[in-house]
Amino acid sequence: MLLLAIGFLEIKFVHILDILLVGFLIFRLYKLVKGSIAVPILLGIFSLYIVYLIVDALGLELLSSILGQFLGVGGLAAIVIFQPEIRKFLLFIGRSTFNKERPWMWWRIKQDSGLDLGAILEAAKAMSATNTGALIVLSRSNDLKFYADTGDRLDALLSKRLLLAIFNKYSPLHDGAVIVGRNGRIIAARCILPVTENDQLPAQLGLRHRSAIGLTEVSDAVVLVVSEETGQISLVVDGKIYRDLTLQEMRKVLKALLSSSGWIESSVDELLEQQGALSA
Ligand code: ATP
Ligand code: MG
Repeated sequence: MLLLAIGFLEIKFVHILDILLVGFLIFRLYKLVKGSIAVPILLGIFSLYIVYLIVDALGLELLSSILGQFLGVGGLAAIVIFQPEIRKFLLFIGRSTFNKERPWMWWRIKQDSGLDLGAILEAAKAMSATNTGALIVLSRSNDLKFYADTGDRLDALLSKRLLLAIFNKYSPLHDGAVIVGRNGRIIAARCILPVTENDQLPAQLGLRHRSAIGLTEVSDAVVLVVSEETGQISLVVDGKIYRDLTLQEMRKVLKALLSSSGWIESSVDELLEQQGALSA
C-alpha cells in the first residue's frame, strides 16, 4: 500500500508504522535508563564507537582492529552490563501482558493494595523523632520473594505499633529491611537488600541508604529509610534518593507511585512538580 512518493522515496504505511514503533521503543528505553547508572555506560560505549570510526577512517589498522574486536563482542557485553535494566523491562512486559484484570490497558496497571500508608508514615515519623533506624520496602509490581527469603518470614498485618516493635533497637528483628507485600501485609523482616554500586553518592550515606538505592535499581519497589544518625526520612525510588520531602509530599508521591506499577507513569520529579504547580 503506497501512501505517497517524494522523488525516488516511496513511503508505505508499514514504513510509518515501523518508524512509530522504533520511536516508541527508544522512548521506553530512555524512560527506563534515565538517571540510572546505564547512562554513563551507554555514553562510554558511544564514545568508544566514535573513536573507532575516526581510527578506522584514519587507517590506523592495528588500533582499529582491536577496537573492532572489542565492539564485536559488544552485544554480549551489553547483555551482561545491562542485566538489571533488561530484567526490569522483561518483568514489566511479562506483568503487563498477563495482567488479568485489565489486559487491554497494559501500559497503566492500577492495583488496589490494601496498604495502610498512614500507619507506615506515622511509624516513620515516630522513628524519626527517636532516631531509630528503619528500612521499609514497599512492593509494587512484584513481591520481591527473593529478598524476602533472605530474612524472617512474618506475613503479618501491618500496623504502626508492629513497625515500631520491629525496628526497636532491642528487637531481634530490627536489623535489615522490612518488606511490605502488594497485599499490604508485612511479608518479612531482617531482609538483606543488594547494595548499590553507584560511586557518585555522598559519603554520609551508609549501607542502609545504599541498600535501599540498590534494591530500587533492580526493581520498581519504593523504599522508605529512616536514618539512625540524623532521624531524616528518605524516599528511594528508581535508584534515586529524595531526602528533604515533607511528610505531606511523601504521602502524595507514595500514593501516586503505589497505585501504579511499571515505569510508564510519571517520575517522582514530575509528581513533585505537578504538586508544586497545584499548591502554587
Ligand atoms: P544511618 O543514617 O541510619 O546510620 P546509614 O546509611 O549510615 O544509615 P549504616 O549506619 O551503615 O547506614 O546502617 C547499618 C544498618 O543498615 C545495619 O544495622 C543494617 O540494619 C542495615 N543494613 C546494612 N546493610 C544492609 C543490607 N545490605 N540490606 C539491608 N539492610 C542493611
Ligand atoms: Mg550510619
